[in-house]
Amino acid sequence: MKTNGKIIGLTCVECTKRYAENEVMYTCPACDIAGILDVEYDDDRARRQLTHDSLARAERSIWRYLPILPIADDARLPTLQIGMTPVMNTRRRNDR
Ligand SMILES: [Zn+2]
Repeated sequence: MKTNGKIIGLTCVECTKRYAENEVMYTCPACDIAGILDVEYDDDRARRQLTHDSLARAERSIWRYLPILPIADDARLPTLQIGMTPVMNTRRRNDR
């Protein structure tokens, strides 16, 4: 994963070992499949990159957060809309 320093690092949810963003691929090597990696976001970067104005102008999908997501700038992104799924009212939901 080459994300150009968008994140601080990755932390294994099982053993809490920390990794640099390009050190491991999907899971903690010591914990195998149980070692899901939490992304440590750079809050200062997020504040600079995601302003009220930029979010108001951005497309309504998960890709509005691309400046802080650990995805390479040159990655091929899916063309389907991801995220921002609207919540629809239904009679059963409204009866609660
Ligand atoms: Zn681990």
